[in-house]
Amino acid sequence: MNTTRSAELFEKAKTYFPGGVNSPVRAFRSVGGTPIFFAKGLGSKVWDEDCNEYIDYCCSWGPLILGHAHPSVVKVVQETVALGSSFGAPTRLENELADLIISHHKYIEKIRFVSSGTEAAMSAIRLARGYTGRDKIIKFEGCYHGHVDSLLVKAGSGLVTLGTSSSAGIPEAYAKETIVLPLNDKAALDAAVKEYKDQIAVVAIEPIPANNGLLLQEGEFLRYVREVCTRENIVLLFDEVISGFRVGFEGASAYYGIQPDVLAFGKIIGGGLPVGAYASRSEIMNHVAPEGPVYQAGTLSGNPVAMAAGIAQLTECLRPGFYEELKEKTDYLVNNVLNYARSKNYAFNIFSVGSIFWVSFSAQKSIRRSDEIDSDEMKKFAPFHRSLLEQGIYLGPSGYEVGFVSAAHTTEDIDRTIQAMQHALDVVFEG
Ligand SMILES: *Cc1c(COP(=O)(O)O)cnc(C)c1O
Repeated sequence: MNTTRSAELFEKAKTYFPGGVNSPVRAFRSVGGTPIFFAKGLGSKVWDEDCNEYIDYCCSWGPLILGHAHPSVVKVVQETVALGSSFGAPTRLENELADLIISHHKYIEKIRFVSSGTEAAMSAIRLARGYTGRDKIIKFEGCYHGHVDSLLVKAGSGLVTLGTSSSAGIPEAYAKETIVLPLNDKAALDAAVKEYKDQIAVVAIEPIPANNGLLLQEGEFLRYVREVCTRENIVLLFDEVISGFRVGFEGASAYYGIQPDVLAFGKIIGGGLPVGAYASRSEIMNHVAPEGPVYQAGTLSGNPVAMAAGIAQLTECLRPGFYEELKEKTDYLVNNVLNYARSKNYAFNIFSVGSIFWVSFSAQKSIRRSDEIDSDEMKKFAPFHRSLLEQGIYLGPSGYEVGFVSAAHTTEDIDRTIQAMQHALDVVFEG
């Protein structure tokens, strides 16, 4: 595989950007080698600067549920941008995307568009604090909510201790407002709400945690979190930046049949352009400025080009059978690779839900908490990733990230991927 051009571009990029990238995981640090620079994407495929072709399962980390450059998205983006790219004033397209979402999502009455998932989570937390008049927040180890100060926090030592920041530049005073709990642990949640009674504004959770492996939770645990929040008047925030419009149009909330108080969206909602959103029932959303006292604003919020892309993409997602087809394809991929791994007795598993999958280099049947992931075994992801690259299959360059199947993946793509993954497993386990 020739990647000379990517390597040259990366050398140049290192002189411009910290680590040569504009978002850390892109640097390929956890798989080694230099990042691939992409030149083009169409449907399920991407091409790099050296003209290598790959079947893509990163899908821009989730947004591209229709694959790359879907004709209906491209068309409206071109038409819309030709009419002016931004007004900083209301446009009809914001109403249209809001209507599309609200009329098909039973838990949402009002929404506010922002420009990223981070901004959505940050604003949702502020809203929860403003709504409850409380400061403390609970988050879970292994969940990611963007690079928000008070959420870049890891557990302190001891079970119900206050957090410590997991990034330089975040005052410990902020981290102390965040309580970090293990997932799937009712007792830890009980202890935290008891210890900080009437001080907790919000429990933030990825209902389908998909940023540190795929830590599928039992519905029972999520229902318990809902019960506790209701009883203690705590806002329940479902961060559905990945799961929203992915495991179904109504995301994890409908998948589990649990109504959160506030939802955060990103990724798929913008059709591949930068959009995020937070949403809730009117009674809570009315606390946001200018109607209420919680300030939040954005120069490019509700950007018409991005709205148009979101409308086009979500309209396709609403097609009958859309999510069923995606899940069938994903199950076909996962089952075939798993059956092969089992026939060879490889210590390997793939977890999946809907069209999200995660390869785990351990035979464990369930992994619900980040500390259940064996980090030594996960080192096997690097040669697995390398072998797949060489066979023309692109996964995100980290073993802790999930893969995504899009509507553009064909049976032929999936069959080729099954063959390639089987070979990659042989390389990893038999050298
Ligand atoms: C990606 C992600 C975010 C952050 O979104 P950005 O658009 O990268 O800022 C927040 N929460 C979850 C669950 C995510 O997966």
